[in-house]
Amino acid sequence: MIPIIDLHCHPAIKVYMFNKDIRHIHHPWSDVYPFGMHVDLPGMKESNVRVILCSHYIPEAGFTRLHKSEWLFKILRWVLHGIMKRWESYNNPDDAYSKVLQSIDKINHQVAAGSEQFNVVNVTNIAEFKIAWKLGKTIVLHTLEGSHQLGSHSNYLEHYTTHLKILKNKGVCSITLAHFFENSVCDTGGGIPPSTAHKIGYPENACTEKGLTSIGADVVHWCQDNGMIIDLVHSSVTTRTQVYEILEKRQNEGKIVRPVSFTHTGIRELAGPNMKIDCDRYYLPDLDEIEKISKYKGVVGLILMNYWLIGIEEDDPGKIDNAIPYILQSIDLIYKRLLHYDSIAIGTDLDGFTQVPDDLGHIRLLSKISSAIQEKLGTEIAEKICYKNALGLLQHAWD
Ligand SMILES: [Zn+2]
Repeated sequence: MIPIIDLHCHPAIKVYMFNKDIRHIHHPWSDVYPFGMHVDLPGMKESNVRVILCSHYIPEAGFTRLHKSEWLFKILRWVLHGIMKRWESYNNPDDAYSKVLQSIDKINHQVAAGSEQFNVVNVTNIAEFKIAWKLGKTIVLHTLEGSHQLGSHSNYLEHYTTHLKILKNKGVCSITLAHFFENSVCDTGGGIPPSTAHKIGYPENACTEKGLTSIGADVVHWCQDNGMIIDLVHSSVTTRTQVYEILEKRQNEGKIVRPVSFTHTGIRELAGPNMKIDCDRYYLPDLDEIEKISKYKGVVGLILMNYWLIGIEEDDPGKIDNAIPYILQSIDLIYKRLLHYDSIAIGTDLDGFTQVPDDLGHIRLLSKISSAIQEKLGTEIAEKICYKNALGLLQHAWD
């Protein structure tokens, strides 16, 4: 069975928020039930998922201020006090930063406890990673979704780089600069599908296009200098453009330039025509942008969520919706432009409260993707897409 590297999944959210255990077998009964666990170590073993980039996310305080949800959060604070105190708080500076350290510790604890049974390990740098990979270990890496977890309430760059250093020493290898709300580093490009956005009162066109803050530009340089992968998912077009300008400038100045990536995404040309919301269309990279990512040796991790793959929401638990055909279609489209398969990877976003497709509803089913790609394009190409391109990204962008 071809090994798989999942560039983006979220078991850490369920572990941190709901005390789930990645060592246990889970059978989530619906794609929209929030407590269901879609990534666990038994499932990874079954589908030969050798590496996950386990993304940590402390839910942003901004949610509690959305006009439709304020009342809901008042009730939740009362009824689910234990869970709600894990949410980011507005009042405490650096709250998300201190909480994300707890989230990392919780995963490390479970990985250590499962090390013998699942031959699993957490590594903190690329040298350790290479050794663990050669030894055939299953590897859990840490990543962050959203720079709100780097800190807040400070205008000094050192404030954020001090946290970055600590997080990097703990093994954080990648960060999405943006998430659902503006933070100290940049604006947001959005990323919530329309039906959910409507229910909670999240703005339809959330992308404010303010771009990077001056601290944000320095954080980009810090990641390039120190070897942390910049993930552009959730970033606005303005932020992305500024990041590419920084890379180009660094190249002209003879500085080190590392790949940047979209770890969990679809393609604008495929999904965009079905989307009614402009921000959602521009949230996705188009083929020109993917070409740029490829030029810097970055990759595009294809997501398991049909709204971002084809622009059609399929969140009805009573209806069967599959993603494999659209993953294959996305691969074809990228190949037609790039004429190679070296920049395509897999980033499931499982456990990120996504609309999970029925054919890939748990990580134990992921070998269906490797098999489908292998059947259509052959073993060599399937190996590239399923793990070799992701290995290249880690090697080039992470120190
Ligand atoms: Zn995301």
